[in-house]
Parts: sequence; C-alpha cells; structure tokens
Amino acid sequence: DVSQSKETILSRHREAAAEVVPDHTQMYIGGEWQAAASGETFDTLDPTTGEVLASVARGGAEDVDRAVEAAWEAFDEEWADTTESERQAVLLEIADRVEEHAEELAKLETLDNGKTLMEARIDMGSTAEQFRYFAGAIEIDRGQTESGDGYHGQVIKEPYGVVGQIIPWNFPLTMASWKLAPALAAGNCSVIKPAEQTPLSLLRLMEIVGDVVPDGVVNVVTGYGEEAGEPISTHEDVRKIAFTGSTTVGKQIMRNAADTVTDVTLELGGKSPIVVHEDADPHEAVETIAFAIFANTGECCEAGSRLFVHEDVADAVLEGLQGAAEGMTVGDPLDEETDLGPKVSREQVERTMEYLESAKEGGAEFLAGGDAPDDEALEDGCFVAPTLVEGLDHDHEAVQEEIFGPVLEVFRWEDYDEMIELANDVDYGLAGGVITNDIEKADRTARDIEAGYIWVNTWHEMSPGLPYGGYKQSGIGREMSVDTLDHYTQTKSIKYGLD
Ligand code: NAD
Repeated sequence: DVSQSKETILSRHREAAAEVVPDHTQMYIGGEWQAAASGETFDTLDPTTGEVLASVARGGAEDVDRAVEAAWEAFDEEWADTTESERQAVLLEIADRVEEHAEELAKLETLDNGKTLMEARIDMGSTAEQFRYFAGAIEIDRGQTESGDGYHGQVIKEPYGVVGQIIPWNFPLTMASWKLAPALAAGNCSVIKPAEQTPLSLLRLMEIVGDVVPDGVVNVVTGYGEEAGEPISTHEDVRKIAFTGSTTVGKQIMRNAADTVTDVTLELGGKSPIVVHEDADPHEAVETIAFAIFANTGECCEAGSRLFVHEDVADAVLEGLQGAAEGMTVGDPLDEETDLGPKVSREQVERTMEYLESAKEGGAEFLAGGDAPDDEALEDGCFVAPTLVEGLDHDHEAVQEEIFGPVLEVFRWEDYDEMIELANDVDYGLAGGVITNDIEKADRTARDIEAGYIWVNTWHEMSPGLPYGGYKQSGIGREMSVDTLDHYTQTKSIKYGLD
C-alpha cells in the first residue's frame, strides 16, 4: 500500500506542517506574543513521524505572574464592564472563525496530537458549538429575588475575575473551548495552559481571534505541568481553577487550591463500563463497543474500557469485536482511510505497553492486538494496535487503572447483581453505557452504574445542555451546561431594608 509507505507519510506530514503550523509559538499574554522570561523553549512533536513540529515557549512562574496581571488589568479596565450581549457577540464570532478555519485547525491537531483527520474535523465542530452554546447560555437569568416583611432581597451572580484553566492533550482545542466559553460567558478573564504535547491549535486560535477578544481576556501560557501549570494552581490572584487531566495531578491541584481556599472543578480520568444485556443485537453491540473504546485511539476520558457482556451473546459479540479490531486500518491519521492514528507521545505508548505487559503476567489472553502494529511504515510513530483482553481478575491494575489507549478488557456475566458490583468496583465514575433493546433493562442499568454520564445504545455523543462530569474520583463539577456557569461565578445576596 503506497499511501502507507514511510516516505509518503513523512512527506505528507512535512507538507501539511509547512501549511498549518502557526507563525507564533510564543505565549499569548496581554494580547502580545511573548517569549518565556527564561528565554527557553521546548519542542512539540508529530507522533506519527517523531519529527519536531515547532519549538514553543517554555513558560514558568514569572510568565504566569505576568499573565495573571494582564488578565486582571483586562478585567478591571474592560471585561468586567461588558454587557451580556457584548460578550455574546465575542463568543459567536469565535465560533464563526473556528468554523471558517476548521479544516486548517483540524489538520494542525492531527499533526500535533495524532488523531485522525476525520476525528479532528468533528472536534472543530464541537469546539464551535461550545462557544455558541455559552453565547446563548449568557442570557439565562440565574438570579432570584426574594421579598419579605420589610425587605427585598436579590441574588446576583458575579464573575470571579481571573480564572486559571489547565487542559489536556486528547482534545486540545475542544478542551480549551469547554473551559474558555463558560469562563468568558460568565464575565471572567482566563489564564489557560494547553498540554505540553499539543500547544499549537490554541496558539493558532489566538492568532485567528486576537482582534475579537480584547487584549488580556485570554492569556495562553505554554509549558510543562510542574513549571507552568503548578504556578497557576498556587497563584494567590487566581480565584478559580478548572482542570482536566489525570487524577493524580487533579488531587495535587486540589491540595494546592486549599492554601488559598480557591474553588476548583476537576474533570479527571475514567474506566467506564459497557454493559451488554442478553437481548442485545450482537452486530449493533459490536459497532457501539468498538466506537466506545477505539475512537480517538482510546484517548478519551469517557472511553468505554471495561466490557461486561452477557454470556448468552458473549461469543457472538467477542467474535465480532475481534473482527472489528483486526479490520481497523491503523496508520497515518492524515489519510482519510485511517481508522486509528498514533497515541500522542512515546511516553504514552510506553505507559500502555507497561499495562499490556502486566496484563500478560496476570494471565490475560489477547483476543486481538497486544502490541505495536506489525507495519514497518509506522515504526517511527507512537502506534498501538487495537487490543482486546480477556481473563484478567477485576482487581488487576490493568482493569482498575486508566490505560488511555485502544485497550478493552472483557468480562462475561450471568448474574446481574454480581456484574453491577464489578462494574462499579473502580475508583472512577465518569461514564458508563448499556446496550439493550429493553427499556426497563436500560433504565435499571443506567441508574445502577455509579457515573455522571450514561449512554444507552450509543457512546461519546455529548450535547451542550447535558451536564458532563464525574462521580467518585472522576471529578468535581459539571461542564457543557448551565451548571458550568455556576462554577465560574460567585453568588451574592443583597438585602434591601425597606422600613
Ligand atoms: P496530566 O494530568 O499530567 O496532564 C494534564 C495537564 O495538566 C497538562 O496540561 C499538564 O501540563 C498539566 N499538569 C501536569 N502536572 C501538573 C501540575 N503538577 N500542576 C499543574 N498542572 C499540571 O496528564 P498526562 O501525564 O499527560 O497523562 C497521564 C494520564 O492522565 C493519561 O494516561 C490518562 O490516563 C490521564 N489523562 C486524562 C485526561 C482526561 O481527559 N481526563 C486527559 C489526559 C490525560
């Protein structure tokens, strides 16, 4: 297959990089492109080829200080006085421009993250949708009035001022939109840090919307977690922190925020169960399950990564899944034929491989995959073959911990109560799903799974308006809905004495 030869992939990626890598790879602070105070940079790589895409400013505490200062200045001098309709116009314009530049931004994310172009295009649609949704949500009046004997009371919602936002690499621009859209809608200014693996699309967005967003309202500090993220989470003048990423770092952020009693919302990992009932159509089940685990190379916090399939349909479903996994085209994410792109980084591949190794030692049987794909053209990239694992104890680390790759662990069940107990027997509770044509079974299982988001006969679909967030150690707070505005505002009661 010529389109999959190493040389073709390399030249296709170099050509695309020349076309879409942004001119500015410094930080965007106070409306200006600025180098790190240290003068240092770091490289962001293309996980398909291993080549350097760009050198980006390596921010640190001093840069965070500058960004927070610029954000407060913008808040005090301009943004705090904007009307709802003025902020609405800004968000709508951002949405329009994301759409106008969607193809270019999608290509950039494919290069920087490794997600397929098809997936990146979908992400650009949902990025625009976030800005549009919160542009509308601005108008929802969340204040109340309360009158009594001799008084009139009013509840108002005020922005925090400056918020800190730290985002991951799996959906770079979409995650930025989940944070920026509600923060700006509620009237805040932001200091936002993209993940060090994927800083480029957010920088490009600021090039695209720099004339629409007043200077200092959005400040992008690039850099590593401990150097540029930590100072955001400990900063005395940051009044709210929103974080998406690993549970370990989420806990650290919460500890840091305790020192300044700063409000935090956290969207952390998952290990979401897919429950297949005995009446399910195996063919449809296979489609939903394959999508649940393999979309975005398994790098989704809401991925369905533990399958509980009823014994009556288990053979048919597993045989179908095996075919689906082995039939996937793993390869160049810029190629429209590709189903599964690389993981984001070499480090992430190693993490996944360690889990697979440990699963092997734990007596796992691999129904598919279990290693890198057997393809010379892909050897410089961060590829992992779609993998199905059966035969692990449910308390094995590969089952309990988030692998964040295209790896599904399979369990067969007959007794519903025992199955649900296992399905809930993880620290996480982000999402879950049920596959059945019986509405009563669907409803019962949806309620029995301890998680913040349940899909029935589908997966990954999220709609603004339906709150998204975790139970248990999967997080605190909800995104994508009116609830989110509450996370970005503080509540004030005003009582007027009328006597
Ligand atoms: P991470 O939590 O380290 O990174 C997420 C973001 O937090 C990045 O912007 C990073 O720079 C920043 N960060 C890291 N350390 C920080 C610190 N001490 N203070 C402030 N910010 C900090 O995640 P990772 O190491 O890239 O990935 C590890 C695992 O996390 C993955 O394998 C996956 O299981 C999970 N993860 C989950 C999500 C999700 O959407 N929930 C996203 C990415 C990764």
